Amino acid sequence: MAKALRFEGKVAVITGGASGIGAATAALLHAEGAAVVIADLPGEAGGALVAKLGERAMFVPTDVSSWEAVDALMTAAVTRFGRLDILFNNAGIGSFGATPDLSVEDWRRVIAIDLDAVFYGCKAAIPAMRANGGGVIVNTASASGMAADYHFTAYNAAKAGVINYTRAVAIDHAREGIRCNAVCPGPVETPILSGISAIPEIRAAWNEVVPMGRFARPEEIAEVVAFLASDAASYLTGAAIPVDGGLTAHTGQPNLAKLLPAV
Ligand code: NAD
Repeated sequence: MAKALRFEGKVAVITGGASGIGAATAALLHAEGAAVVIADLPGEAGGALVAKLGERAMFVPTDVSSWEAVDALMTAAVTRFGRLDILFNNAGIGSFGATPDLSVEDWRRVIAIDLDAVFYGCKAAIPAMRANGGGVIVNTASASGMAADYHFTAYNAAKAGVINYTRAVAIDHAREGIRCNAVCPGPVETPILSGISAIPEIRAAWNEVVPMGRFARPEEIAEVVAFLASDAASYLTGAAIPVDGGLTAHTGQPNLAKLLPAV
C-alpha cells in the first residue's frame, strides 16, 4: 500500500523558500502532497525551484520586511490555491558587530527581516487559517535566540524575540486550532554561512563546539519543520526546538577531558 502523504490537500507558504532551509522544506512538503508558495526576494532561484517542483508550486517575489508585501503574499496564496494551512516564517539574514560598531541601519534591517517579518507573516496568515478552522505556523529562530554569541548582537536580539513571540502566538490562538512553534538550528550548510564557514579555522572552531562535530544539512532542519507542521505534532505548541547537534545542551565550559592529563 502506498504511504499516506502527510500534507495532501494542504497549502503552505514558505518565506526564504528559494534557498537553504526554506528550499529544503518546500521540497519536502511538496513531495508529501502540499501546494507550496515560495516567497523570497526577486531573483532566479525562486522561479527555478518552482520549475523543478512542477505543479502545486508558485513563486511570489516578496520582501518580507514590508507588511504590504507579506499581506499580498498570503492573499496570492489563497487566491491561487484556495486556502492556507501552513506558514513557515523562515527568511532571515545574519549580522556581525558588537553594539558600538553596529550601525542603527544594520540593527533595524536585521530586526525588520528576522523579527518584524515573523509578526507580519502571522498577522496576515492567522485570519486565513481561522477560515479553515485552524493551521500551523513554524518560525525559524536559531540556537542564537536561546543564548548569546560574541558580536551577534542584533541577530541574538531578533531570534530571541522570535522565540518569545512564538509562545505569544501559540497561547493566543491555541483554542482556534492554530499551533505555533519555532525551530532553533545550530550551524547549517547554507549560503547564509558559506562565506564565513569556508575559512578553515572558523569551520574547525565551529565543529569543535558542536557536540556532534559537524554542521547540519538543510534537509535535517526541514524534517523537523515538517514534523511540527504535521498532525503528528497535534499537541505541540509554543515550543522552541533546538536542532543543533547538541550545541545548546552545552554550558560552554571547557572540555576538561581534553585538558587534564590522562589519569
Ligand atoms: P539562506 O541564505 O540559504 O536562506 C535565507 C533566505 O532568506 C534566502 O533565500 C534569502 O534570499 C531570503 N531573504 C533574505 N532577506 C529576505 C527578505 N527581505 N525578504 C524575503 N526573503 C529574504 O540561509 P538559511 O540558513 O536557509 O536561512 C534560513 C533561516 O535559518 C534564517 O532565518 C536564518 O537566520 C536561520 N538560521 C540559519 C542557520 C544556519 O546556520 N544556516 C542557523 C540558525 C538559523
